[in-house]
Amino acid sequence: MREFDYIVIGGGSGGLASAQRAAEYGARAVVFEHGPLGGTCVNVGCVPKKVMWNAANVAHTIHDAAAFGFDVELRSLDWNALKVSRDAFVTRLNGIYKRNLDNRSVEFVPSHARFKGPREVVDDQGNVYRGAHVLIATGGYPTAPDVPGAGFGITSDGFFALEERPKKVAVVGSGYIAVELGGVLNALGSEVTQFVRYDGVLRSFDTMLGENLMKLMRESGVDIVTGATPTELANDSSLTIVTEDGRRFDGFDCVLWAIGRAPNTESLALDVAGVVTDGLGHVVVDAYQNTNAENVYAVGDVTGKAQLTPVAIAAGRRLSDRIFDGQTDRHLSYENIPTVIFSHPAIGTVGLTESEARLRFGDEAVTIYTSEFVPLEYALSEVRPKTSMKLVTTGEDERIVGCHIIGPGADEMLQGFAVAVTMGARKNDLDNTVAIHPTSAEEIVTMR
Ligand code: FAD
Ligand code: NDP
Repeated sequence: MREFDYIVIGGGSGGLASAQRAAEYGARAVVFEHGPLGGTCVNVGCVPKKVMWNAANVAHTIHDAAAFGFDVELRSLDWNALKVSRDAFVTRLNGIYKRNLDNRSVEFVPSHARFKGPREVVDDQGNVYRGAHVLIATGGYPTAPDVPGAGFGITSDGFFALEERPKKVAVVGSGYIAVELGGVLNALGSEVTQFVRYDGVLRSFDTMLGENLMKLMRESGVDIVTGATPTELANDSSLTIVTEDGRRFDGFDCVLWAIGRAPNTESLALDVAGVVTDGLGHVVVDAYQNTNAENVYAVGDVTGKAQLTPVAIAAGRRLSDRIFDGQTDRHLSYENIPTVIFSHPAIGTVGLTESEARLRFGDEAVTIYTSEFVPLEYALSEVRPKTSMKLVTTGEDERIVGCHIIGPGADEMLQGFAVAVTMGARKNDLDNTVAIHPTSAEEIVTMR
């Protein structure tokens, strides 16, 4: 039996950040990871996704170039060459993550781990490790619906394994991954049909965002089918989606399920450690990332809260600040978490939606500011998609409780405004800020 101050199960965003911070305080830490280091974000998430999004932006730029007098034409894309370069970049990152652990003397065990006792885990070889503290940071995996033929489809993991561009793709889902990968595939030349269960996409965000995105995606060529819940995926000469109301959509060579993720908790033997999960298998934690079991914690996607890389990292680091540096009240607030959806165009959003604010503060207290305009980059183009922005404010002093942007550049625009919202900025503070011209961002400080 080997003894450690800190056992971390999962070498993804949250686990690595927490283990390294603990080691910086002198803790003897060990990380267990059965897959490539870096977890979802680095291997099958943010990083390869952003490479594909950047590739899609290049395609859009080539399309738009004629308006500026360029004689260029998008003839073909070597999808596999792009994949090979992307994979090589990810492999470089895996190496950097390993060196980061070595540099801080964090021990790495390339193995699955499961509980053997309250604070004891066992690796694949049967070696047992005991920790004064144990962190569960095992993330999650993409799900497919429980319908006949679901296995003929792929998930986001399968998307990153594709060696050639699919010709005709069905994307099922209406959240982050569906709109991001649907937009990428469309820009890179696939024929895309997106199936959503209800009447729109991104239903958990401010309605302005989903409504505009759906319109813009349709204008850019994505066929969005609403009220469509798949009940079967048939594989004849091509893939056919059958929906609940009996409609059949055929001719697909690829079906991508993007309907959410489930936590990696089943193989952890959590019952042995006495750790409680909710009905969906997420580890239940309090505001300080404590599970119900003494000195056992969880961070990141496995907790089911705000499944974003910077959230897992921030929660993991703050946890180590608290356990190993005596910062007794250190924890992450899950309010005002900014997030970007890398759709085409991008969306940046922080704080409350308009309807959440009306519900929380009452209609009387809420004042909304909006702006809609064609960004200057489309001044010469025939197709001139609009950028839309919304500020949600509350009270006499118009404290900004929500900021929602859809349009080119929203991804890079939001971070600074998220600082302002976190600091409690009032509308007046934006009014008093001198604009930067000509930009899209200036509209946020000039709304009336
Ligand atoms: P993970 O990064 O999933 O790490 C968990 C690790 O634990 C995994 O490596 C797993 O192999 C390992 N593990 C599991 N069980 C065990 C075990 N028993 N023993 C040993 N190891 C184990 N977030 C953003 O902020 N921005 C984005 O642009 C973004 N894009 C995304 C795109 C896609 C397609 C996907 C799927 C996700 C995206 N995310 C994005 C979300 C982000 O990837 C996750 O929120 C983040 O990776 C969560 O970190 P984590 O540490 O909780 O889990
Ligand atoms: P999401 O939770 O974002 O969206 C999935 C959506 O699919 C649901 O909201 C639901 O929408 C719909 N859905 C659920 N079940 C079914 C079904 N059986 N058939 C059809 N549609 C269904 O999950 P994703 O998989 O897109 O992404 C997982 C998480 O990863 C995200 O929540 C996010 O936290 C993270 N992520 C972050 C990114 C970023 O930061 N840019 C990018 C990608 C992922 P409805 O109820 O409207 O039908």
